[in-house]
Amino acid sequence: MGELVSAQTLLKETRKAKKALVSINVENMETVQALLEAAAESSDPVLVAVSERTLSYATPATFVAMIRAVAAPLEVRYGIHLDHATRLETVESCLRAGFNSIMYDGSSYSYESNVNITERVVEMCQPYGAAVEAKLGYGGDEKGLDGEKESLLGDPALAKDFLSKTGVDSLAVSIGGNHGSHECGPDINFGVMRSIRKEVDVPLVLHGADGLRGEVIRECIRLGISRFNFCTKLRDSFSRAVMERLAEDPDVVDPKKYLRAGREAFKKAAKRIFETIDKKD
Ligand SMILES: [Zn+2]
Repeated sequence: MGELVSAQTLLKETRKAKKALVSINVENMETVQALLEAAAESSDPVLVAVSERTLSYATPATFVAMIRAVAAPLEVRYGIHLDHATRLETVESCLRAGFNSIMYDGSSYSYESNVNITERVVEMCQPYGAAVEAKLGYGGDEKGLDGEKESLLGDPALAKDFLSKTGVDSLAVSIGGNHGSHECGPDINFGVMRSIRKEVDVPLVLHGADGLRGEVIRECIRLGISRFNFCTKLRDSFSRAVMERLAEDPDVVDPKKYLRAGREAFKKAAKRIFETIDKKD
């Protein structure tokens, strides 16, 4: 039986097992099915993530209903996560619909504004018992920092200050990856990661982990990353499989025929991620 579990609990459990929690973005019914089946078959928990942008395609209630219904017959422990919310209305509608994990991304604001609005998100989530993830960023008012990403994004003292002021449950860190494109290059700054880990004790989340090699992922886990977000490559595998199927047979009109190909490709890609996370050195 599928079990909806709080993100804090899942993070604690995976950390204890010297692993990390996997969060993967879904887009539609097929990707929800693919992800939950992959997690169940890998015996791993998962955060099923839906981005704010995806929620303009289908409502929070639609996603919650789909995720719960798909998970119900599977042996899987999962959370339902809102990824990169920038609007409080999105947070509110997701909480009402049954999301139990919220990422608020105030990284485009100034540091002070990010603190204030994230505090508000924490207050909103409390009555629902939902976990809150936040992100530190360049800050709209912080001119001249663009060329010095680490100075603000990976500043351990600032991370500590942010956490004590907001009380969030986890923190998205930037340690070399180019988050804008949701791609992390091989230029992960392990030194910054180590110093942040030393200063703060909340779970750290690495976004845009799609491009990371297995050994880099495991080194990140050793150094204290508790959760990885994947998105781009899975979407890519879904869409490419659909395109290939349609190219093979341009007369196909039954959506089930090409969407099935996308679903299978997405599931395969998700299983590879779980294998990487599960691999012990
Ligand atoms: Zn992200």
